[in-house]
Amino acid sequence: MHFNILTIFSEMFPGTLGAGVVGRALEKGLWSYDTINIRDFAINNYGSVDDEQFGGGVGMVMRPDVLGNAIDSVQKRGKIIYFSPRGLTLNQGMVRDFARDKDATYTLLCGRYEGIDQRVIDEYDITELSIGDYILSGGEVAAQVFIDSVVRVLDNVLGGGTEATANESFEIGGLEWPLYTRPSAWRGRNVPEVLLSGHHGNIERWRKQQSDEITKKRRPDLIKEK
Ligand code: SAH
Repeated sequence: MHFNILTIFSEMFPGTLGAGVVGRALEKGLWSYDTINIRDFAINNYGSVDDEQFGGGVGMVMRPDVLGNAIDSVQKRGKIIYFSPRGLTLNQGMVRDFARDKDATYTLLCGRYEGIDQRVIDEYDITELSIGDYILSGGEVAAQVFIDSVVRVLDNVLGGGTEATANESFEIGGLEWPLYTRPSAWRGRNVPEVLLSGHHGNIERWRKQQSDEITKKRRPDLIKEK
């Protein structure tokens, strides 16, 4: 899988993506990325990529001529995604869809300031994607969230095969059950007896019941979706 990342902060990459399982996958060549510095396409020697809003109001907007040239410089673009609070909110089902083709290329547009000129979105038929109902100062963190979540479910990225992702929150139609490891007693708190019993049927039932309970309490919307 390949990602073209358009940003004015190339130094932010790989950032968090260079560590852990996703970082190892990068070293193994399971995914790759290029950063395209939007400033290389600036309209002047000061490196300007933004301008005042038509219609007035505070905050600057990234210029379409600059972004257009930056996008055109990418040879193989694949689907173009602009990270924006106005997009559909990314969820695990969408992550699975994006990960379906392990050889896919995605071009990721990281906004700054108030955002980008609408005509760029229209011109390139860009998909807008949000990572949640809050405002970030730029799309770079969103791009890292996107890449991390998509790469993580590609084959051979996690140890433990497909089971490693199949048992997680959202994949199981709800939230994960509580997790425990050694020591079995810690500060007077004991691991639930059933998990030490070795009885797989009972363990599975307990986990399912815990998962249902916690999902009902915290995220009833996930149950209704089924
Ligand atoms: N004026 C915009 C917010 C701009 S924030 C609005 O009101 O909708 C600056 C940039 O950060 C955006 O262009 C976008 O690329 C990124 N960004 C901010 N919040 C985001 C979110 N929740 N999801 C994805 N990208 C986000």
